[in-house]
Amino acid sequence: MSSVADLLRAAINPRAVAVVGASADVGKFGGRVMQFLVKHGYPGRIVPVNPGATCVFGIPAYKSITEVGAAIDVALLALPAQHLPAALEQCGAAEVPCCVIITADFAELGDEGAAREAELVRIARSHDMRLIGPNCLGFINPHVKLALTSSVALAVEPMPKGSVGLVSQSGSMMASMISHAADSGAGFSACVTVGNQADLEICDFIEYFLQDDTTHAICTYIEGLKNGPRFLALAERCREAGKPLLAVKAGSSDAGAHLTRSHTASFAGSHAVWQAAAQSGGVLAIDDPESMIDCAHFLTRFGPARNAGVAALSPSGGTIAVTADRLYGAGLELAELVPATREALSRIVPPTRPLNPLDVGGLPREQGVSAANDAQALLSNDPSVGIVFIVVATTPHLDEKVRKWGETAIASGKPTAILFTPGRLVDSARKTLREIGCPYTDRMDDALRVIRTAVDYGRVVSMRRGEAQPPAFIAVIEKQLSQLPIGRLTEPEAKSLLRAAGLSVTSEVLATNVEDAVAAATRLGYPVVLKAVCRELVHKSDIGAVKLGLLDEDAVRNAWRDVIANVAQHFPRSRMDGCVVQEMAAGGIEVILGARWDPQFGAVVMAGAGGILVEVMSDVALALAPLGPDDARTLLQKLKIWPVLAGTRGRPALDLEALTEALARLSWIAHTAGARLLELDVNPVLVKQHGVVALDARATTGPASS
Ligand code: ADP
Ligand code: MG
Repeated sequence: MSSVADLLRAAINPRAVAVVGASADVGKFGGRVMQFLVKHGYPGRIVPVNPGATCVFGIPAYKSITEVGAAIDVALLALPAQHLPAALEQCGAAEVPCCVIITADFAELGDEGAAREAELVRIARSHDMRLIGPNCLGFINPHVKLALTSSVALAVEPMPKGSVGLVSQSGSMMASMISHAADSGAGFSACVTVGNQADLEICDFIEYFLQDDTTHAICTYIEGLKNGPRFLALAERCREAGKPLLAVKAGSSDAGAHLTRSHTASFAGSHAVWQAAAQSGGVLAIDDPESMIDCAHFLTRFGPARNAGVAALSPSGGTIAVTADRLYGAGLELAELVPATREALSRIVPPTRPLNPLDVGGLPREQGVSAANDAQALLSNDPSVGIVFIVVATTPHLDEKVRKWGETAIASGKPTAILFTPGRLVDSARKTLREIGCPYTDRMDDALRVIRTAVDYGRVVSMRRGEAQPPAFIAVIEKQLSQLPIGRLTEPEAKSLLRAAGLSVTSEVLATNVEDAVAAATRLGYPVVLKAVCRELVHKSDIGAVKLGLLDEDAVRNAWRDVIANVAQHFPRSRMDGCVVQEMAAGGIEVILGARWDPQFGAVVMAGAGGILVEVMSDVALALAPLGPDDARTLLQKLKIWPVLAGTRGRPALDLEALTEALARLSWIAHTAGARLLELDVNPVLVKQHGVVALDARATTGPASS
């Protein structure tokens, strides 16, 4: 086999599958798997293996997989944990390339389970064999009528066939997504569950779906990523291939993150970093699994919204009013219709009605049917409209209207989200849309997610991907890093890194005695600032180790005495390097810039409102390093404080260029240092009318290998 994708192609489109632990009892895993294989009409060879049976579901069984004597593309092992090692050895001996292990109770139970899981991987490796699972529910491929799963969803559901590829860490979530897809008209190229990802992991299946021609969108349910950089590299390939990559990631709450450990032994990681990574990678992050399928289905049908303008219409005046509110609340934009559209619409509806969102209800009967459809056609043709939103309410001639809406949507190719607000009453209209292959949703929340995703995907496909050129100063950063100690850095040490990257920092002198401090103050010019320099001291001002606005020599002497006394009181056993005498900066607004090393995604930078505002307003934005000036500006623009920096209500605009430049430079420090810089906080950075200056910095460095 030349690659994992080739191996998975054979496993997911197999000519022969084996079920080890096959049973006639559908109450057992091995019984259900057999039942679903047969029930869904898999046309390839089914090989039941069970030492105690001669025939299962009318198919001759083997005592051992080693006796089959013909190539098996994939084997599913439905066995208690203690029998797995021996069964895997036999699969290896029979040269089975890929095994699915549905058995649970491995790494998710803790260390002992993790050791047993590692043993399975070791056996597989020794035979050059790959594993899916354990603790998964197998996979389905509707295109070859293959249901290799024990999921009870397959007992009642037909397999919805389509072009969405799904890889899910959770088995029962796959079941719900299949069931939802069957109801909503979506369909799959394949659905794979990966459970604990002991060997093959989510990224392997993304890679498979990337190469699979029947897959046009890829959905993932992620509890923990094995390899963040690989995921992002694949996301970039998905973008290039025009296959949207969607993800629901568990762990946005502490409780959720905790549950991923006991569910699939997954480390959820920081959710804020995930969101930043997903955004920089063009991954469409969604908060609801079933809705993710709706979104993917929509994108496979219509592709991205070419611009963010939404045009909404409904035959219900009340519904369209609420729709306007909800679109606004979701932060979506209403399209500014072009004059030709406005003019044509004003011939259809009474002059008192606004044109977007548009109420097409209550028009004279004959006109009513066609007006609702004519309006859609006009909106679809309007170049300012990126996406049309039709909110279906009960109305005369509903079936006819909905059919035309669906047909026009598909014929025009303009992304069109159709929402049914009534319940079963309008099931026949839903059926009509399913028949013509037009996506729809049944809840406003889902419709808004679909619209948001289509708009976001529009941005993703137009994302510019200039390889950021490493600036010349990274050699200086390297040199400075090599001279710094490992562990917590003092303010002057942390600032030396900033200086190396060309960031502007306060002029300052490290003084080891009071006379030197006074001399330094004279040289710098009053007023000055005096701060303790002590490695153990993290929040200097908390213990009175920062003295601001010192106006003369006496003030410096008093401040020196106080600072020394305060540090001695709070950190009696710590060594002090002395005090730093700094120029006293004034004017402007304080912000925080920072960087973190994230074990999953690498160097991350953050910016936020400075001082206490950072905690009170939680005004922070993150992105993966490095950042070009455009990326840095985009990040800063997400801050609530941005309009204040940009100058509101007669306040002067501050030097946003300098701030953007500082953030970009800081991102290169983080990127260059990698795991050697665990965290860096520049708090505050003073943003002035001309220039910015770092007033304080702290950092923790780590060994190169961590
Ligand atoms: P820490 O964060 O360790 O408590 P800082 O060095 O950030 O100590 O000082 C606390 C506050 O004092 C800063 O947030 C800033 O408002 C102010 N400050 C610090 N250094 C200067 C300076 N050189 N010029 C003006 N103000 C300063
Ligand atoms: Mg500070």
